[in-house]
Amino acid sequence: MTSTGEGNRIDSHTILYGVIGDPIRHSKSPIMMNRAFRETGINGIYAAFHVTGGRVADFAAGVRAMGIRGVNVTIPHKLDIMSVLDEIDAGAQAIGAVNTIVNEDGRLIGYNTDGIGYVRSLKEEAAEEGLAGKRIVVIGAGGAARGIVYALAGESPARITIANRTVDRARELADAFRAKCDIEAVPDEQLQAACREADIVINTTSIGMFPNTEGTPVDAAWLKPDAVASDLIYNPLKTTFLQQAQHRGCRIHGGLGMFIYQGAYAFEYWTGRPAPVSAMRESVLASLQH
Ligand code: NAP
Repeated sequence: MTSTGEGNRIDSHTILYGVIGDPIRHSKSPIMMNRAFRETGINGIYAAFHVTGGRVADFAAGVRAMGIRGVNVTIPHKLDIMSVLDEIDAGAQAIGAVNTIVNEDGRLIGYNTDGIGYVRSLKEEAAEEGLAGKRIVVIGAGGAARGIVYALAGESPARITIANRTVDRARELADAFRAKCDIEAVPDEQLQAACREADIVINTTSIGMFPNTEGTPVDAAWLKPDAVASDLIYNPLKTTFLQQAQHRGCRIHGGLGMFIYQGAYAFEYWTGRPAPVSAMRESVLASLQH
């Protein structure tokens, strides 16, 4: 890898990176990652590849053949990509999904940076004192919740309580990480009581996401006024849940940071260099405003 201070000049040393998904043309990752390469002077270029179902093995062969150094993986390939990789990091294995591939001389290694990206963002933006000893409520038990619960469980919280519309999914998720920390699943009727005690309440559902922006996953009046309210959604940047929680006095934390930091970890795994996080955030914010 060359580092000349010029970044994103394209020549015969340029190293390729990219993101695969279906659909993919909405992705903000190319804007964010190419800004990161420019900012750090790394001679890399990052593109979006529309890879449809059934083509992930062909794609992996292409990555090996072309020496593509790094790939991000998004919906719907985070699970099916796992069967075509050479090695899967323990965290990604526990989560059951891969969102980042590092190509080490033809060996493709899968990681999951979604959960650790979320936790890094939460700690830097809203919970500077750390998460040890905190009571955390996670609403939702889908794919994103899995990565987040895995990463939260590694931070020594006092307890994680998971509530989900389909309570069996919440139970399954709690069971998967029970060995790592005190973790429970509760039915909706117990959500209010759990929120009243929580230091951090996290919405991992799509309730409140554009275009249905008026929805909220819980009544903000249930939250302690000094709690942190966190939402994975970043469209809109401040959901109705976060607006109401802020009105109640809570510290709020939106989903943009998770997106930035999952990319920051991927950048760091690929390049071994610290990610230029503020520049990455600035580029995504600018593109969201257009
Ligand atoms: P997913 O696997 O489809 O899970 C969706 C979750 O939301 C499930 O727990 C589902 O409950 C719940 N849910 C959906 N609609 C609901 C409703 N009307 N009432 C109650 N619960 C409802 O999706 P995901 O991949 O985890 O994504 C979830 C959210 O996180 C999305 O808004 C996504 O944009 C966001 N996200 C953000 C980032 C980021 O970088 N900031 C990254 C990934 C995801 P059931 O189990 O009962 O269906």
